[in-house]
Amino acid sequence: MNVKTASLTDLTDAQLTSLVLSMGEPEYRVKQLRNQIYRGLAFSFEEMTDLPLALRQALEKVTPLHSLKATHQVVGQDGTIKTLFTLVDGNTVESALMGYPQASGRQRNTVCISTQAGCAIGCPFCATGQQGFKRNLTRGEIIDQVLYFANYLKNQNHTAQEITDKTASTLSNIVFMGMGEPMSNYDALWPAIETLNSPDGFRMGARNITISTSGLVPQIKRLSSEKLQVGLAVSLHAADNALRDKLVPINRKYPLEELIPACKEYYRATGRRVSFEYVLFKGINDSLPRARALAQLLRGLACHVNLIPANNTGDRTYQPPSPQTILAFERELKLNHINATLRQPRGQDIDAGCGQLRSRFVSETGSRKKTLNKV
Ligand code: SAH
Ligand code: SF4
Repeated sequence: MNVKTASLTDLTDAQLTSLVLSMGEPEYRVKQLRNQIYRGLAFSFEEMTDLPLALRQALEKVTPLHSLKATHQVVGQDGTIKTLFTLVDGNTVESALMGYPQASGRQRNTVCISTQAGCAIGCPFCATGQQGFKRNLTRGEIIDQVLYFANYLKNQNHTAQEITDKTASTLSNIVFMGMGEPMSNYDALWPAIETLNSPDGFRMGARNITISTSGLVPQIKRLSSEKLQVGLAVSLHAADNALRDKLVPINRKYPLEELIPACKEYYRATGRRVSFEYVLFKGINDSLPRARALAQLLRGLACHVNLIPANNTGDRTYQPPSPQTILAFERELKLNHINATLRQPRGQDIDAGCGQLRSRFVSETGSRKKTLNKV
């Protein structure tokens, strides 16, 4: 690996150690360095004042600290922050930070992270899918999105109470629901997750990390056998193969007869309920018979269904149903004993050109004015 072209966060533990040792430094410097990156959230070598100047200068010569450049930032009416990052090769990806006030008065901050520039799956309702596939992100590019928002939160003005609570000032959840199919980039995604979870890394609990997938069965099986038990969300959107083949084209390769048993296996292996995302499209998958078919498909599977009204990406075919239709669908699922929650997309007003950076978790909107800033 040519360290000159990578960022420091791209390096494996072994690579980082050999780099530091090759600079004539003792091994404990590696720990200090990791501490600065993942706990101190340093964004320049200059800030790492506990490291010798000579080491900082030597590191700066061989590798940048981070790989991403935040080039634009938009704040939605509900406070969702969406950031556009430019990669070293000029490709761009977007990620979002969503704050959720809790009943306790505390706040939960979730980041929605991209794993690929573009996506090869090609779901027809998805803006990213329509852009086609550009490339996989590296582990460093995945990690750096998280560190960017963690650093952003840390540098906001917080009250003394918020700092003590470590709520508004820190990240509480990471969801891989941004651009791209995370499971198609498993080899970069998994080391990134390990670093984000590691006690020597960012220390995000596995319970607070969720991977969303269009349904790549071999990778779901691989996930089931991992020691680290992260959450699984499956983008279902249809309960029969004929419709799902059209909405989520990977279904032609891994149909429901394979997908649902893989989800059951994941539950057996991890004890974690699977989340199913069901985006409601007007006149396409929103009827009561379809709600009953969904309940039938999921019967006996420990799961939770998130119902999400389609976000309009400009394609007239894929519109959200009326509020009455949405509520009737939800009611029908519940009558059929399925745990379901209606989620309002977050950052809806700033979604244009992205198509998916939105929450799957709460349903409320705020009133902050939309702004567009170059950062
Ligand atoms: N590729 C993965 C993760 C990224 S997409 C996946 O498909 O699960 C994250 C979520 O956004 C998926 O559930 C996807 O179906 C949804 N999504 C994409 N376009 C959307 C739209 N126009 N309206 C509502 N949800 C959308
Ligand atoms: Fe890819 Fe997910 Fe969009 Fe489908 S919904 S095209 S899998 S990013």
